[in-house]
Order: sequence, then C-alpha cells, then structure tokens
Amino acid sequence: AVTVRGAVKTYGPHRVLDEVDFTARAGEVTAIIGPSGSGKSTLLRAINHLEPLDSGFVTVHGELIGVRIHRGRLRELSERAILRQRSHIGFVFQSLNLFPHLSVVENVIEAPIVTQGVPKREAIARAKELLAKVGLSDKVDAYPRQLSGGQQQRVAIARALALEPKLILFDEPTSALDPELVGEVLTVIRDLAAAGTTMVVVTHEIGFAREVADHVVFLDAGRVVEEGPPSEVLYTPSHERTREFLGKLV
Ligand code: ATP
Ligand code: MG
Repeated sequence: AVTVRGAVKTYGPHRVLDEVDFTARAGEVTAIIGPSGSGKSTLLRAINHLEPLDSGFVTVHGELIGVRIHRGRLRELSERAILRQRSHIGFVFQSLNLFPHLSVVENVIEAPIVTQGVPKREAIARAKELLAKVGLSDKVDAYPRQLSGGQQQRVAIARALALEPKLILFDEPTSALDPELVGEVLTVIRDLAAAGTTMVVVTHEIGFAREVADHVVFLDAGRVVEEGPPSEVLYTPSHERTREFLGKLV
C-alpha cells in the first residue's frame, strides 16, 4: 500500500499540495483525476521522492520513502538509499523517454543490470518475457525511433516492470499518444491490473478509470476533494466541483 499523510508542497507562495492525505491499497489500481495544475504529477512524484515534501510523509508497503526519523524529526535519506528505494517503484512518464541510442531490449535490461546487478543473460531472458507480455516480441532489436508512440510507451512499461516493482506509478501514460494508439497501452495496464500489480495512475481517460480503477481520487487546487470507488466518484459525485470537472470532460 501507499500512504501519503499531510503532504504539503509549496513553490514560492503557491501551495501545490495542501495537506494531502492519500491511500492506494496493495493490489489495487488507484486513479488520480483532476484539472491541469491541481497537483497530480507533484503528488505522484512525491511518492517516489522525486519531489521532496515540505511537510508530511509517504510510506510504501510500510517503509518511509526518502526520509528517516532521527530524534523525532524527519531527515532526508542519503542519495544512495533514495535510489535503492526508487528502484522498487516503477515510474512511467507522460512523455516518451526511452534511451534513443539503445535498442528495445537494451532499454529494458539497463536498470536491472546497473541498479540490481542482475547478470546480463538473465536480464535479457526476463526482458524478452516482459516484451512478449506487452506484445512486442517482434521489436526486441528495434530502436525507439522505429516504433510508434504506443509501442514506445509499452516498452516503457516493460522497462518499469523489469525491476519487479512493488508499485508502478503512471503519469498520464497515454496523453502524448495519437487517439488510435491509446487503447493498446490501456490494454497493457488493464492486464497488469488483472494480475494484481499495485498501481497509481494519473489519467484523463475517465472511461478507463471507470473500468479499471478500484479507487478514484479527485484532486483540485492541491486538495483531495473527493475519493471513493468509481461508481461513486465518477457516476454519482457528491461534490459540485467534481461534477463540474467531469461535466467538462464529456
Ligand atoms: P497537468 O494535468 O497539467 O499535468 P498537474 O495536476 O499534474 O497538471 P502539477 O504538475 O502537479 O499539476 O503542478 C501543480 C502546480 O505546481 C502547477 O501550478 C505548476 O505550475 C506548479 N509547479 C509544478 N512544478 C513546479 C516547479 N518545479 N516550480 C514551480 N512551480 C511548479
Ligand atoms: Mg501532470
């Protein structure tokens, strides 16, 4: 599970996260929705400490992320310890960000070899399994520029899975894609959900959230306005602000 408690993040005078409490249960898909600038990416980045908080804390499966308690106060962990924690948390970004000079399989084996010391032969075998899972067995030796956006994003998912993460964070994984490529990426995420991978997905795809999410969190102006099962938040929201936001999307 992921727990965020009392998260505050400010940029100058602007409170981007304003006392956010957030929970994503293990084995579930938690969708974060909300308008542009509401703090969705900041919250996601705070979960793996890419965005250190001003106050509040994050735990993943019970472990404090990015900080430790020292004499009753939170102190930042060493860079190395942070990288180690991050290596157990997959992150798939909105923009396509594969290593352009590496082939598909090389993109997938890079982190397991470098950060986990997995032997190359083993890493390759595992990468090929993962690429098969995302439907890219025939693209193992291709380079990113030779792939469509949807294919690149599926490689990015395989790359995140290669670290056997306890948790995968997706930041609008389909928003950079042409509409006809969105479905193939959502299908891969849906399959992962069926396999019980714990995921937190920032998305504008309300149809996808309806279908796949177990829990939906609506963020507005750095606050959680409403959360609950999709049947409530997306179909019968209890806050006017949520209704207004959903109304604009359809
Ligand atoms: P979008 O849907 O457009 O991706 P979002 O909900 O992900 O939006 P965030 O990226 O979390 O929003 O940003 C929340 C607010 O914080 C925005 O007003 C943004 O301008 C501000 N912000 C984010 N990062 C920084 C930064 N590094 N410096 C200053 N302001 C920032
Ligand atoms: Mg964002």
